[in-house]
Parts: sequence; structure tokens; C-alpha cells
Amino acid sequence: MPPISQARRRALSRHLEAVRVLAATPANIARDPVRFPRAYTDLRDIEIAAVLSAQLAYGRVDLFGPVIARLLAIADAHGGPAAYVLGFDHARARALDGVVYRWNRAEDFVLLFRTLQVVYRRHESLGALFVPGPVAGSLGGAVDTLRGLLPGEPSRGFKTWLAHPEDGSACKRWLMFLRWMVRRDGADLGVWTHLSPKDLVIPLDTHVMRLSGFLGLTRRRDASWRTAEEVTAALRLLDPDDPVRFDFALAHLGISGACRGYRHAEVCPACPLEPLCAAPIEAPPGARPARA
Ligand code: SF4
Repeated sequence: MPPISQARRRALSRHLEAVRVLAATPANIARDPVRFPRAYTDLRDIEIAAVLSAQLAYGRVDLFGPVIARLLAIADAHGGPAAYVLGFDHARARALDGVVYRWNRAEDFVLLFRTLQVVYRRHESLGALFVPGPVAGSLGGAVDTLRGLLPGEPSRGFKTWLAHPEDGSACKRWLMFLRWMVRRDGADLGVWTHLSPKDLVIPLDTHVMRLSGFLGLTRRRDASWRTAEEVTAALRLLDPDDPVRFDFALAHLGISGACRGYRHAEVCPACPLEPLCAAPIEAPPGARPARA
């Protein structure tokens, strides 16, 4: 981790807090995949909607959103996600034929619902698979348990949902899921009280990765577990009890298109991070033009 002076830590805290306050808008929540689990009140419904939404949250928001909405509409027609999963059978599996999102196929969704069915026959909550403590061990143990519940070799698309910290993966989608379940303010749901926000690791998406570099939180270039831990260690200097509390804000600075990824005369002066940002002056090849 690059050295971060006390003065720089204070400045980062102040400016990141300004971004966090600006990002906590209904519009940002409404375009974030967390909107799907937020529509439910029952714990199991929330968990199933959150797993599905987090694991499909790759690529473009406007493309994966309708697929999540379609799957949850099917579940809702059977009494909601928990009732749907608990009653999942051959007929429900056949009815998923044709549901596709990029490399995820109907067979992956079938395997997910069957695996969750086994979990809920044994436990009240999916949270039982995640033990308290550092997230590398907690998440790794949960993924190992899920792998062990599969009836055979996972399908190709399902394998992408079994990202494991020990494999070096940044595990972005699982870490986003954990942020939703464990943190208790802003967009997050905070329904799992047996885990602590202080143990979370930041979900390192493209935007968070890029901004972490601009802010000097890491010099690493790879979106790996090591980088996610390094960025989290830097953020822990600002808030030891809640190191990922700026994640939603950093991600939405990029998702919203407000940050172009380079210095822009019309955009950057209004950005709270401007005094601390080391973004390049020149637009990288293929960069989008600034929004009107
Ligand atoms: S490049 Fe501009 S908009 Fe993006 S973080 Fe830096 S100052 Fe903010």
C-alpha cells in the first residue's frame, strides 16, 4: 500500500464523505442492482434476490437489469423468491428455458435455485454459511460449502458464480452482495447482524479500481483479491469500523458518467475529489465525450 500521511488521510476522509453524501440519491439507488433485494421485506426473499442480482451484475446495467427483473417476476408469480426456491421442481426448471444473460444460461439458474433449496432446507438463512471474522475466510468457507452442495460438476456459467479469494479473484460480486447484507446505511440492507462491516473488503469494479488509483489508495493495476485488500487497507485508515462505506459513492461516480476517467475542464471542477485526484490530463483512446 502506498504511504498515506495523516494530512492526506484527513483530506481523503473529508472529500470522500462529500462524494458519499452526493451519491446517496434515490436516482442512484434506482439504477443500482441493490434495488431488487430492496423491494422485499422477508429475509429469505431478500437473500435470494440479492444473490441473483449481485451475481448477474456484470456488463451493462441496462442489459442485466431486465434479466434480473424477469427472473424475480417468475419467482413472484409463485409467491416470492423463497416460496419459489423451496418449491423448485422439474416444471419450474423447464419454465426457465430461454432465460439467458451473456454466458449465463437457464442451466445455471436451475443449479442456483436447486442449491439454494438445499441451503434453506438446512438453514433459516443463507447467512449461516458465512462465519464471523475476516471476509477472506468467511467468503471462502461459504463458497466451499456451496460447491459441496452441488450434485455434480457445476455448469460453465455457474462456475463464474463460485469465485474464491484463494484463487486470487477480486470476488467483486460476492463482496458487493456482502456489502448489501452487512452494512446498515445508505443503499445497503444490513440484514445480517452476525457479520461486522469492519471485516468487509471492497468490491473492486472498474470504476472503483480506477478511482482508487487516482486517489493513491493503490499502485496496483490488477483487479485481484490482493488489490481489493490493499485498497480496503487504505480505506481502513480513514474508517477502521466501516472501510467500504465509500464504495457505493465511488462506483456511482463512474456508473453515472460523472467521472470520465481523465481530467475534463467541464466536469472535474465540480467534483469533490478534484483536489486529491491524479487522473491523467489526456483522454485515453476511445474515452467517451463529456455529457452535455
Ligand atoms: S477525473 Fe475528475 S471527475 Fe473523475 S475523480 Fe478525478 S476530479 Fe473527479
